[in-house]
Amino acid sequence: MELTELNEHFSRVLAALKEDHAASTIDLWFKDSFVADFDGRTVTVALENVITLITKDDVAAEESSIFVSAPQPYVAKQEEPAPDENDSVVGSGYTFENFVVGSSNKVAHSACIAVAERPAGTINPLFLYGPSGLGKTHLLFAIVNSLRKRRPRTKVRYVTGEQFTNELIDAITKKNTALFRSRYRNLDMLLIDDIQFIAGKMVIQEEFFHTFNTLYQLQKQIVLTSDKTPKEIEHLEERLRTRFEMGLIADIQPPEPELRTAIFKQKTQSLGLDLPNDVLAFLADNIRSNVRQIEGAVKKLWAQSFITSEEITLDMAKSVLSDYFSKERSKITPDLILEMLSKRYGMPTDEIKGNRRTANTVYVRHMAIYLIREYTDLSLNNVGKIFNRDHSTIISAYKGVEARLKNDSDFNKDLHEIKAELDEK
Ligand code: ADP
Ligand code: MG
Repeated sequence: MELTELNEHFSRVLAALKEDHAASTIDLWFKDSFVADFDGRTVTVALENVITLITKDDVAAEESSIFVSAPQPYVAKQEEPAPDENDSVVGSGYTFENFVVGSSNKVAHSACIAVAERPAGTINPLFLYGPSGLGKTHLLFAIVNSLRKRRPRTKVRYVTGEQFTNELIDAITKKNTALFRSRYRNLDMLLIDDIQFIAGKMVIQEEFFHTFNTLYQLQKQIVLTSDKTPKEIEHLEERLRTRFEMGLIADIQPPEPELRTAIFKQKTQSLGLDLPNDVLAFLADNIRSNVRQIEGAVKKLWAQSFITSEEITLDMAKSVLSDYFSKERSKITPDLILEMLSKRYGMPTDEIKGNRRTANTVYVRHMAIYLIREYTDLSLNNVGKIFNRDHSTIISAYKGVEARLKNDSDFNKDLHEIKAELDEK
């Protein structure tokens, strides 16, 4: 979207705000402000002296940009209930009901429901892992929201690994670790998001070890998430690793095509958009790596149709979301992929394309073949030409990667990161 358009919209938002709040209050904050930048997800508004990022792709804060969500919800959000006594900041909009389930996330989803229904029943701890943007935080929030509704007396605390760390450091500095302990050890359920953050931090791991043991012995529920399995988290103390592995470990994988379509449907409907099937199919086909991206695309479409009052057609989708597709369709060339891999693994492109058979080289070569097949329209023969191999070698490399993706989560994560990087090109 163009900045001029955004600024027109921004003025309208300000005008709308002035209807509900004193104009002087709005002016205090927003006088002479304007939209300075928009990257599809984050709007940067320049205030008189400072430049502030209005929105952050941050689920915990449950904020979205005042442009990509309607002006009304923005105002409404100011009135959301203050965080409860447990002072966990949990977005109330994240529920089990609005989590779309498919084969890539159904184990994680049902485990979370089970934990919400019967805390410390059979699954303890519950450990969710998977690449970023696939719904781990959403599921934790859903557990908390479901408990708050059905069992408001349950003492629940949601924090990120980083918050846990900061709170503990704070407590140590202020010499009130007793308070910290009572806060964490008297809970019915503790959820820690991105627990990998504490790895490598000795004091924090030590404290968490005792927190974990206390809660576990009292038969309280513990839920953890991470971007990796306990085994794969580097510098994690062994005694923590074994504890993380005591309950259920459930993974979340990138959404399969059917799930992508279903998520697109749900996200568009929740914004009151009705997308024709061809547009849905096209989106699901092209926006693949994570759900956050899907949301970004839907919000862009919403903003466009809001501003122009036009219905969304395939052509409009293609042009509004050209940034998303061009990279997947045309900007991404075999050379670009090879260069990226070369940089990432510190391996000359000639080696990737060449005949060396060491495990490392073959790993990168197969990755390259797979990505070129996924991102470009080259025929098997033409891909073969790049690597000086025939098309049957290309097929078997591709199949090898597909198979490996199913049972090697390290590999999976590596590929996911590469795709995310390519999607940003
Ligand atoms: P993670 O914590 O794994 O990085 P998040 O939970 O922050 O991912 O998810 C990113 C965004 O995608 C959130 O806005 C979330 O609501 C949405 N999302 C992820 N998975 C789903 C799903 N299956 N159905 C609906 N929304 C989803
Ligand atoms: Mg998260």
